[in-house]
Amino acid sequence: MSTIDWAARAADLRPDGRALIDGRRVEAADGQTFAKHSPIDNRLLGAVVRGQAADIDAAVRAARTAFDDRRWAGKAPAVRKKILQRFSEKILAAKEELALLETLDMGKPIQYALSVDVPSTARCIAWYAEAVDKIYDEIAPTPDSALALITREAMGVIGAIVPWNYPMIMAAWKLGPALAAGNSVVLKPSEKSPYTALRLAELAIEAGIPPGVFNVVPGFGHEAGEALALHMEVDAIGFTGSTRVGRRMLDYAGRSNLKRVYNELGGKSAFLVFDDFKDLGRAARTVAGSMFFNQGESCNAPSRVLVHESVAEEFVGLIAAEAPKYAPGDPLNPATELGALVDETQMKTVLGYIDAGHADGGRCVAGGQRARAETGGFYVEPTVFDGIRNDMKIAREEIFGPVMSIIRFKDEAEALQLANSSSYGLQASVWSDNINRAHRVARALRAGTVHVNQYDEDDITVPFGGYKQSGNGRDKSLHAFDKYTELKTTWIRID
Ligand code: NAD
Repeated sequence: MSTIDWAARAADLRPDGRALIDGRRVEAADGQTFAKHSPIDNRLLGAVVRGQAADIDAAVRAARTAFDDRRWAGKAPAVRKKILQRFSEKILAAKEELALLETLDMGKPIQYALSVDVPSTARCIAWYAEAVDKIYDEIAPTPDSALALITREAMGVIGAIVPWNYPMIMAAWKLGPALAAGNSVVLKPSEKSPYTALRLAELAIEAGIPPGVFNVVPGFGHEAGEALALHMEVDAIGFTGSTRVGRRMLDYAGRSNLKRVYNELGGKSAFLVFDDFKDLGRAARTVAGSMFFNQGESCNAPSRVLVHESVAEEFVGLIAAEAPKYAPGDPLNPATELGALVDETQMKTVLGYIDAGHADGGRCVAGGQRARAETGGFYVEPTVFDGIRNDMKIAREEIFGPVMSIIRFKDEAEALQLANSSSYGLQASVWSDNINRAHRVARALRAGTVHVNQYDEDDITVPFGGYKQSGNGRDKSLHAFDKYTELKTTWIRID
């Protein structure tokens, strides 16, 4: 990796921002585009199709035709498997190009685009491919006079609307199960990170996925996104994004065809450190690494750190010492740990939360400033606030940037009350060397994923999703097939 001159490659890059509908790259029907800039230094990356209802309609029609003529759904599962495996291999073969596009588009460090985003995307596609010819349907217990088959069928046309923080991975979490099950997909990437989705669709076609099965229409949420979520021929929406827009998805479904809506939304995950946990240094390294990974732009970032008052001083000191290791740097430098925030708006939002932390009486023990302004890009230092109360703005709202809040607690009951006092319930973590406490607290935490004495483990094999206003669906694992398949019962009389 160190031998690659990423800056030179970036200078040569001319990404194609046209939509991909029915197997072809196309301009918008009305010819509109928007300018896409890189958050690294605000350079212009190119013009991207600004999809509208007409473009979404063309993509949905292509997807519907492809589904109805069974060019994909009708293939044997083992055949879909082979094609999707090829798709996964092509993603890996294009890893440098895809990683560079991802870094330029949304600002993450190139080392992580290469080591996390590309391989996780490829693994997700391959994993669902490998599963699909190993899943059997069911036969119900019946009397001699009947046979009842319980089968899963592909649902039809799936609309996937995804955010910009892990553009490829979030798309893959929808594409993997939806395509493996035989559906057609129309993907609407975020306007802040459209390029890798478009390249993925090209690679899928090269791998043998028939035209019309996987379409990508870039554009804005209130235009292309809304048109997709309102479309009468879309059977389900797989949405990942903010809770604010997730609410709208339910409204769009209610106003159109009651399409299934699977929302994967925001988080404000609690990280509970008890005084019986001895290795505070490891807990501090873990929480800093997890909080500042991806510039804090992770739905599951452990942004509320709850620590027992008797170990709080020591723990805060350890975290404050960790934070500078994540100093913002040039995302194209392979040594950089923390890159640029996705755009100026996001940077201003994050700086606004830092102001709120000060105004509410928080004590900033690390960071707190914009960084690298001279580059023209949008960087914020890794920031840690001590002395935060759970009712303060920065403890309640998802910041989606590198800002950690530390809250002190007196005992287990208070820790649990604070942890669960959130409208979100995506993830949580409990740190304790007492096995009874670890199990007790893990059970009582209202979150879709609970970590015990770690925060790093993750894999496609386990479900990912939230309680409460963090959403209703589960991405990943075999459970994700539930979202993109219908259950059918077939009763047969036997004479
Ligand atoms: P966002 O809700 O602003 O946008 C997400 C997508 O929805 C984008 O493609 C956007 O164009 C589209 N959109 C916006 N308004 C729309 C509308 N009115 N109609 C239809 N589509 C619309 O979110 P974001 O800023 O892109 O992403 C950050 C959010 O995503 C955070 O809240 C984060 O927690 C969440 N997220 C959740 C998970 C998870 O698995 N739970 C994973 C990653 C990110």
